[in-house]
Amino acid sequence: MSLLEVSDLSVVFPGGRGTLPWQRLPNVRAVQGANLSIRASESVGLVGESGSGKTTLGRAILRLLHPTEGTIRLGDFDVTGFGRRTPRAYRKAVQVVFQDPVGSLNPAMTVRDIVAEPLRLNMGLQDEALDERSAELMGLVGLEAHHLDRYPYEFSGGQRQRIAIARALATTPELLVLDEPVSALDVSTQSQVINLLERLQRETDAAYLFIAHDLAVVRHVCQRIAVMYHSRIVETGPADAICDDPAHPYTALLIASIPDPDPAVQREKTSRRRALGRGVAGATGAPPVDACPFAARCPHVMDICHTSFPTPIATAAGGEVACHLHTTGPMLGGRPLSELDPDTDEA
Ligand code: SF4
Repeated sequence: MSLLEVSDLSVVFPGGRGTLPWQRLPNVRAVQGANLSIRASESVGLVGESGSGKTTLGRAILRLLHPTEGTIRLGDFDVTGFGRRTPRAYRKAVQVVFQDPVGSLNPAMTVRDIVAEPLRLNMGLQDEALDERSAELMGLVGLEAHHLDRYPYEFSGGQRQRIAIARALATTPELLVLDEPVSALDVSTQSQVINLLERLQRETDAAYLFIAHDLAVVRHVCQRIAVMYHSRIVETGPADAICDDPAHPYTALLIASIPDPDPAVQREKTSRRRALGRGVAGATGAPPVDACPFAARCPHVMDICHTSFPTPIATAAGGEVACHLHTTGPMLGGRPLSELDPDTDEA
């Protein structure tokens, strides 16, 4: 049974005025027809390049913006049915860690005030109980109780992200939205924070929506992955299956972009990436609503890809893929995408 259920969700931003008085900019379709589910205690990665809509989808779940269409349910909450105010119980149940630990922590507040705020407002703690829980949260994220009396500027980037995680865990949330939580950190600090997040999930049983552009990081942390491209979720599935045998050409391109320490594997990946990404120069502007969003870059593109967005179908690995290759193209023969040669297969 799912904890979070996102169904047919779309978010469209109005275009507004251009630089000239009579100019109107087109609406921006940030998310289109997104379906996503997360089970209790599960960690799901939402992957895609900048502008794919992954952060917008996360913000809709957090109620930081209102979707244009579709529904979001979390347990008994009908999130899209809320009025102007978000119920306190929902704010307790869903928390967020943002990418930038500097911008997300108020520099004028001590760490004690930052961590205690949700404990006071959402959990009703005061005095001794408040101090005890604040110190406990610091211990949970690998910091000391005496750090509570310092200011955010006195900490490194990794420590600041630990403080942000402590604040997010203060309400014992059922779902933690992690929006690029390690992208702003250096590589060694990234692995420490990732290990911390993995340990915390085992200890707290919170479900994670891990939003990131780095598929290698997401594979390490998550059990399932959803891949977004240009406002659409194009593939979902178990993390290992997505990374070892991608069903969608865009997922294959993302995987070919992950560096490999073995020079032979890296050479093979580079040539594969060149083949898969050769259409990138033609990929400008928003794709038509009814087309596959990857059509301008896809080496396997067919006529139907320009006029119809593929209906997602089940994959053998237990996920879904939205690609005409799997319904009308050479994948009908059951050949995995890794065996398709973009230079010879019928486009
Ligand atoms: Fe999209 Fe068609 Fe390429 Fe599949 S084959 S990714 S539907 S352009």
